[in-house]
Amino acid sequence: MKRIGVLTSGGDAPGMNAAVRAVVRCGLDRGMEVYGIQRGYEGLIDGAIKEMDMSSVGDILHRGGTILRTARSERFKTEEGQKHAINVLSAFGIEGIVVIGGDGSFRGGLELSQRGITVMGLPGTIDNDLGYTDFTIGFDTAVNTVLSAVSNIRDTSSSHERATVIEVMGRHCGDIALYAGLTGGADNILVPEMPFDINKVCRKIIQGKNRGKMHDIIMKAEGVGVDAKELAQLVEEKTGKETRVVILAYLQRGGSPTAKDRMLASRTASKAVELLYDDESSKAIGICGSEIVAYDLEKALTIKRPFNADLYHLADVLSK
Ligand code: ADP
Repeated sequence: MKRIGVLTSGGDAPGMNAAVRAVVRCGLDRGMEVYGIQRGYEGLIDGAIKEMDMSSVGDILHRGGTILRTARSERFKTEEGQKHAINVLSAFGIEGIVVIGGDGSFRGGLELSQRGITVMGLPGTIDNDLGYTDFTIGFDTAVNTVLSAVSNIRDTSSSHERATVIEVMGRHCGDIALYAGLTGGADNILVPEMPFDINKVCRKIIQGKNRGKMHDIIMKAEGVGVDAKELAQLVEEKTGKETRVVILAYLQRGGSPTAKDRMLASRTASKAVELLYDDESSKAIGICGSEIVAYDLEKALTIKRPFNADLYHLADVLSK
């Protein structure tokens, strides 16, 4: 394949720029022409496409967000929109594209692949909710961002002897809460994958108070079916401890990507370009252990990674 495109779609994630850079530079290294498609599938339909060179991806490796920008496209969900996208790609002579995004973006990619375009999916989301890969691009940065917020919140909550409910992102996946909770020493971690018991949460807080603990961090994933403010109120009523809420929200989506995310972005992008160059069929690329892996795109969307209950129990033991 000689001419390829790259787009970022859905929620942005730190490391997307590192992936775009690697797609462009690995493609050029193989003598391919690489086109940047702006604003995801929305820009594809609009023909917002321009050829990239070495310098068009200079000075972006360390930047959060995405220079290609991203969007959610309702038009692309329609048959008409998809047909239009195919016409635009064929007008540019683009035979294969790299889609950097989450599961929605991969589903969109699957539609294109069923219409004759080769699609390589790179897992670009902070949520870590793509089951075929151990980690997604942006997850490690988001965890580190939450971790630094936890340490700031801990200072003030110790001074006032308060409990704090910290709500983090992840949609239906509790991994950000789990990893940031364990490494940040949260006293309670609430994730959608495990049952939620308010009495157990409060018991731990009271036991902590009895042994002179100054603060309590309750790390709650957004996918847990309880409102953070209501949870704080319940905790306050049952423990008598003043309880505040911090919803970290979009703070977690920004920032310079960590070394781990830059590495994952660069390696998966390099693999995507290699597969396009070799005229392989559509794939989703990820990491398993330390190996870069590629699964059939449709199959990848059906793979479920079990929740890491061992880590969850370890976090509980460490915060008793
Ligand atoms: P993410 O990729 O982060 O999961 P979304 O779920 O919002 O984000 O998906 C990004 C875009 O992918 C959507 O706005 C839409 O254009 C496209 N998309 C999502 N699901 C489908 C689908 N089933 N068919 C076609 N396109 C889809």
